[in-house]
Amino acid sequence: MYTNSLLKSLSETEKARRISEQVRKRGLSPLLPLPNSGGKPLFLTCSFICGSLFSILSIFLSANIVNAQTRVTISVSNPGQIKVDAELSTRIRSWSFRNAYAGVLGIGERIEDFRAADADVRKAAVGEYRSERESSRISYTVKLSKPTLADVSHLTWLTDDRGVLMLADLLPTEVSSFSATFVLPEGWTVESSSPRDANGRYEVAEAEKAVFCIGKALRKSSTTVQGMPLDIVLSGNWPFKERDASERATKVMERYLALTGFRLRDKSVIVIAPLPIGDAKTSWKAETRGSTLVLLINPDAGFKFWKSQLTVIFTHEVLHLWVPNSLKLEGDYDWFFEGFTMYTALRTALDLGVIDFKEYLATLGRVYDQYRAHPDTLSLIEESERRWASSGSPVYLKGMLVAFLYDLLVRKESGGQRTLADSYRDLFSGRLADSADGNTAIISVLGSTPVSRSFIKTYVENSTEVDLNKVLPAYGMSVLFTGKGSQLRVEGDLNPDQKQLLRSLGYQD
Ligand SMILES: [Zn+2]
Repeated sequence: MYTNSLLKSLSETEKARRISEQVRKRGLSPLLPLPNSGGKPLFLTCSFICGSLFSILSIFLSANIVNAQTRVTISVSNPGQIKVDAELSTRIRSWSFRNAYAGVLGIGERIEDFRAADADVRKAAVGEYRSERESSRISYTVKLSKPTLADVSHLTWLTDDRGVLMLADLLPTEVSSFSATFVLPEGWTVESSSPRDANGRYEVAEAEKAVFCIGKALRKSSTTVQGMPLDIVLSGNWPFKERDASERATKVMERYLALTGFRLRDKSVIVIAPLPIGDAKTSWKAETRGSTLVLLINPDAGFKFWKSQLTVIFTHEVLHLWVPNSLKLEGDYDWFFEGFTMYTALRTALDLGVIDFKEYLATLGRVYDQYRAHPDTLSLIEESERRWASSGSPVYLKGMLVAFLYDLLVRKESGGQRTLADSYRDLFSGRLADSADGNTAIISVLGSTPVSRSFIKTYVENSTEVDLNKVLPAYGMSVLFTGKGSQLRVEGDLNPDQKQLLRSLGYQD
């Protein structure tokens, strides 16, 4: 059951990939095995795409001519339809809407009835509007079809009871910073990480990162985690309360504050809502954009261990609030912010006691099996560049295994003085220049000694396959290939150094 559902999920991803290979950047929703909790498999679904936003953002910024004086009114009256009225700070004669994003094509087709005051607007292409005369007042309708598994994490959606508005696909790309007002059905409220003024207007600094949750009966719990504001917003009925989710998120945030030494500046918002699609194979989907984590859980998923499940999801997604969202790096370094995040999330789940050391090794064994199911011919950097067109999720799988091997190497080389975790503090030490190339910056941090530099060259810059059976014996471990998959084991005759290293990982002999 476990393997079958996993394979089915991956084949769904494969299908989705073929549809949008022509799109340079797209979302990915791989299902990856993460720790069991109380014998129940937990899965990590990461639809995270912030990394690709950086390169897109830099293009938009250069074309951006509309500033915070822009006022936008977003009205929701009918399900599946949003009306937008905007008073732009500058008169312009060209308006462009995002048309392809995260593997979803034709997004611009949702824009209807586009008008600009005092101007004759013509539609130049899907999502592209032009006029001979300039105008600063525009209005249009966004027709939203039923969300699908491919787009629900990445795009605005709306149902009878609630919705998640991702302003990057609701506004022309010329608009970045603005203030927004919402006109909602009676009884509906709005929640966001953007600050709200006394008049109920939300100040948005970057449309690319802006996410608004709307709906009726939204419940919110606000707290501060060591100086970092956190809102938990729940929509729908769940067997846990806001404070349960808040407690779990708090524990994870505390860990990542300690890991990075960096205090998040903006308020973080975690939205938990029902997955608005009935799909028995999908337990949940999540995306962390800017300061907002949207977690959509299938109400029929039948989780028995809610708190552990939430913790496991948070160990991955909450780290994205830091990496890469709080790093001002550019380029495709997905191997690090997805693959190393996978491994760091696993370590964090172990540290928090959600899993034990046995499960830590079992998870790595499952990841190794998935990694070996596809040929590995490219370097991690190359895989990151073509992340959305490759099969087998190498950025996640190989990235995670390389993070594991790196952690082992650093622990051994430093005699237990350093671990991979120390690199996160280096990343946030302030020595990386804004807009630096992500790969160069990360490699300089990870490869700070000749040995670690050589490791990174081998496994990140060059296309070297991960062969655990070749590498692990030096650390007192091996891989046993069984009918149920690869099992990582600790050998019986450990030398004192191996014993010390494995104990530092959580092994108890
Ligand atoms: Zn992720």
